[in-house]
Amino acid sequence: MAHQKRFLLSEKDIPTQWYNIQADMPNKPLAPLNPATHEPMGVDDLAKIFSKECSKQELDTEHAWIDIPEEVMDMYKYYRSTPLVRAYALEKALDTPAHIYFKNESVNPLGSHKVNSAIPQCYYCKKEGVTNVTTETGAGQWGAALSYAAKVYGLEAAVYQVKISMQQKPYRSLIMRTFGAMVEGSPSMSTRAGKDIVTRDPTHPGSLGTAISEAIELATTTPNCKYTLGSVMNHVTLHQTIIGLEAEKQMEMAGEYPDKVIACFGGGSNFGGIAFPFMRHNFFNDKKTEFIAAEPNSCPKLTRGKFEYDFGDEAGYTPLLPMFTLGHDFKPANIHAGGLRYHGAGVIVSQLIKDGYMHGVDIPQLDTFEAGILFSRTEGIIPAPESCHAIAAAIREAKKAKEEGKQQVILFNLSGHGLIDMTAYDNYINGDLRNYTLSDEEIAKNLETVPQI
Ligand SMILES: *Cc1c(COP(=O)(O)O)cnc(C)c1O
Repeated sequence: MAHQKRFLLSEKDIPTQWYNIQADMPNKPLAPLNPATHEPMGVDDLAKIFSKECSKQELDTEHAWIDIPEEVMDMYKYYRSTPLVRAYALEKALDTPAHIYFKNESVNPLGSHKVNSAIPQCYYCKKEGVTNVTTETGAGQWGAALSYAAKVYGLEAAVYQVKISMQQKPYRSLIMRTFGAMVEGSPSMSTRAGKDIVTRDPTHPGSLGTAISEAIELATTTPNCKYTLGSVMNHVTLHQTIIGLEAEKQMEMAGEYPDKVIACFGGGSNFGGIAFPFMRHNFFNDKKTEFIAAEPNSCPKLTRGKFEYDFGDEAGYTPLLPMFTLGHDFKPANIHAGGLRYHGAGVIVSQLIKDGYMHGVDIPQLDTFEAGILFSRTEGIIPAPESCHAIAAAIREAKKAKEEGKQQVILFNLSGHGLIDMTAYDNYINGDLRNYTLSDEEIAKNLETVPQI
């Protein structure tokens, strides 16, 4: 029998609805709270920051299926479906009885899954009469995707990029500028929040928290301007479920069903995107799939954080979100997986962890690059440093399957390629990278900044 390598859906078979897991969760996430009054926030409160439609989606606990607008489907077709790939060469190198599949979200021109949400967010803004969008970006994948999507719908984009990431990944700033966005390193002197941070700590390397504060400040002080976010929020993860819904159909084409679903974890959007469509079968159809979120051990909110109401940003402008957090002013080590340096976990995933439907694993930086190099040399794709966490976790599971002599089906999400991250690989190959592990004292000390609710 011939072995099929890649499974593709034709355009007419691309799913036309997103899956909203909130409707099916046994315990709903707790409400976001107004940071000033600590009252639960409604759609109108959120719509001061986000587009109205995204604000609705954020709080929707009723509708499990949400139609993807036709205009968004038209843009998805520029690069979707993405391939589901059986990693034969990786399996062989590991000499594992496990079948390893990956969903390849690196094949769109922007190089990561982020564009799946950038397109609908900009579409809704345009439809609602918004003219400008702002956002933050870490390693720059989200900023790149947003800059492109803004241009598609004729919106002006202003992006605050984490300063240290801007220095590490200069090409991503250039990509954003090529798409016509204005890019500023954060913390900057162009906002109140940025000035305050720089005054307190002139060498602050920036974090997603500082960049979010600046982008929200610009959005709320500029007419006709909305803020967009590339991760963490429920509506972002909703848009990313196109990944898992396609993968579900493609696994069926392969005649298999995953025992393990794995993704790397920054704010949870690519994880939720691939995991939630499969998780509904654990809720309703007696499936026993294990869901594993792979985080850096230098930013271990899932495995060592605390479940608390906390801010999504450094300055405390965002709603208070009930989530696993390391504290909103947590400064992660300057690891190369810039997209995974966020302090909090998002409210859906946090509730699912509490309820035992999924769990996190933490991975040291050197293991992630070892995994990325093996994947490059076997499957021919150089993965994003973020995605290397998922690969390392998948490799752990494949080795476990070998030790236990179990025939397992492992599915992981390849969230992006690493072709703009070659400095990171250079550092690894030269032996210049190291692991960063936090002490319990450091974690406890930082959690003292979490507001008391
Ligand atoms: C942003 C990013 C991530 C992390 O974000 P999530 O919301 O957790 O998915 C992971 N991989 C890549 C390639 C990214 O760009």
